[in-house]
Amino acid sequence: MMMTTALPIQGGCACGNIRYTCTQLPLLMFQCHCRDCQRAVGGLFAANVWFVTDKIMFDTEPKSYVVKSDIGNTIHHEFCADCGSPIGMWIEEDRTGRALRASTLDDPAWLKPDADIFVKNAYPWEVFDPNRPKYQNGPPEELVARLAARIFT
Ligand SMILES: [Zn+2]
Ligand SMILES: [Zn+2]
Repeated sequence: MMMTTALPIQGGCACGNIRYTCTQLPLLMFQCHCRDCQRAVGGLFAANVWFVTDKIMFDTEPKSYVVKSDIGNTIHHEFCADCGSPIGMWIEEDRTGRALRASTLDDPAWLKPDADIFVKNAYPWEVFDPNRPKYQNGPPEELVARLAARIFT
């Protein structure tokens, strides 16, 4: 289902030192259960809201650290250096998109996750929405393309 809200979308970290503005609706939203996202956000999964990279404007760029994904991609996980809030992530091999963690949005209530991904790493006690698509690994490329096309049609 299409996600929609009034623009611009604003958010930031817990201490307020990092603030951002998004001038376009998100492309898609995946709940990522991979171990790196679990570690980055300290939770069962990261609720990653993906935007076109140049539609997010930060007043202060977050700090980041790098991890190599299972398939060899270079992933930058971002956080606030002052309060430690998880902010987002981006993939060095594909700079078209940039994700914000749902928790950073001033109002996350309108978001609708499109799928659960890397479910192979989910904790055994997780409970899933049976109506939401689940992928054991990363999302299929055709799915990403189809979801992302929604905001341009
Ligand atoms: Zn902060
Ligand atoms: Zn992940």
